[in-house]
Amino acid sequence: MEEHLRHPVFKLLANIADKNQIEAYVIGGFVRDLLLKRPSKDIDIVVLGNGIEFAELAGKLLNAKVSVFKNFGTAMLRYQDLEIEFVGARKESYRADSRKPIVENGTIKDDQLRRDFTINALAISLNKANYGAMVDPFNGINDLQQKIIKTPLEPELTFSDDPLRMMRGIRFASQLSFAIEAETLAAIAKQKNRISIVSKERITDELNKIILSPVPSVGFKYLFDTGLLHLIFPQMANLYGVEIINGKGHKDNFYHTLQVLDNICKDTDDLWLRWAAILHDIAKPATKRFENGHGWTFHGHEDKGARMVPQIFAQLKLPLNEKMKFVQKLVQLHLRPIVLAQEVVTDSAVRRLLFDAGDDIESLMMLCNADVTTKNEYKVKKYRNNFELVKQKLKDVEERDKVRNWQPPVTGQDIMNTFGIAAGKEVGLIKNAIREAILEGEIPNSYDEALKFMLRKGGEFGLKPVTPLPL
Ligand code: ATP
Repeated sequence: MEEHLRHPVFKLLANIADKNQIEAYVIGGFVRDLLLKRPSKDIDIVVLGNGIEFAELAGKLLNAKVSVFKNFGTAMLRYQDLEIEFVGARKESYRADSRKPIVENGTIKDDQLRRDFTINALAISLNKANYGAMVDPFNGINDLQQKIIKTPLEPELTFSDDPLRMMRGIRFASQLSFAIEAETLAAIAKQKNRISIVSKERITDELNKIILSPVPSVGFKYLFDTGLLHLIFPQMANLYGVEIINGKGHKDNFYHTLQVLDNICKDTDDLWLRWAAILHDIAKPATKRFENGHGWTFHGHEDKGARMVPQIFAQLKLPLNEKMKFVQKLVQLHLRPIVLAQEVVTDSAVRRLLFDAGDDIESLMMLCNADVTTKNEYKVKKYRNNFELVKQKLKDVEERDKVRNWQPPVTGQDIMNTFGIAAGKEVGLIKNAIREAILEGEIPNSYDEALKFMLRKGGEFGLKPVTPLPL
């Protein structure tokens, strides 16, 4: 492994180790990523002794500021673009009610034993006598080659001790496209209820990493199969299943959602657009009906889904800000381009879509494209062609009418001033009528035309202008 430790910082750490006769190792994620050829800037160093003192020696030689975390017995320094963390080798034992272990000094093997997975327990020696030698007591290299996630110790104990590891294991499987070894997977299913002692923020942090992985369905299938999903995000687990009445079934919305998510991941790394894919059909179970002579319907699932978004975001401790509003908007609008693509595409329908979606129109089109999961090649072709048509029309209409991010040119205040009336029903009605007239293409999108229209509309309500018009 010597050739992998090319960075001069490792030689410097090796010198400190030998001068002070301390065993030192590079350990954990950095070693795993080195072997997987995934570039990593986070280096963990374990020493058999005092990690903070070792960090301070390194800090002096590297001329780097050392941050000490006394409570954890760790220290960290930044050097060039690297973040190096130091800790003394430790042995850990757990109590039932906490993820926080009781810690004592230990050997390198003790320290490797407290690691969550065999692929995260690899260590490389930094001492001169065996510089670069791999210390791999649990066959982690083999598991890396076989693409397997497995715990070094008895898995049920590992997960019961620190249940966050269940989420981490599934997250690594999803990020690396690895399989979780059968016994480890069974242990997650058995220990799933222990997830209750993990904070919502930590769980969601891992969930977001799964969502940001290349093929998130890998992680979500594990979450579902182990029963974790039912505990951490029941609304999504609820999408699973097919009901059959009079021989008619509907599609399984859980697997459909996963396919939409995987589809959109090919086009975007945006976490929130990926969340929109996860939530687009979230209200299908709540709106499902069987209508005789018609079959299964999910009327209004886009409205109800949009209303469910804030509650789900709050429950998962996701931010209740403009990101949430974006997801909500996409859930609300996700059927609109599809409806357009099935019908004759009129200018006014396109104008309305642009008006409602604003700057999120490209994201919305991406979501709708990902939502086409039918296996019927003919239908796929038809939808995709129509989407292209819708996209072209969107472009044409936007160039001509500029309705994206558009505010109707005449404001409520203009209406009140012109007719000398107070805020009330008529103002809203006139304003709406102006907006509708522009969106329907009855009048051009200009101030003058809107003003003329306003006077006509006001006349219909018996209103007369009291001020000279600002024409
Ligand atoms: P990533 O940077 O993608 O999160 P990582 O493996 O580097 O991956 P860290 O959270 O930085 O993850 O942890 C560094 C190392 O510490 C891990 O490789 C693992 O050996 C160990 N570790 C982290 N969290 C746990 C845990 N909950 N239980 C046991 N070992 C852990």
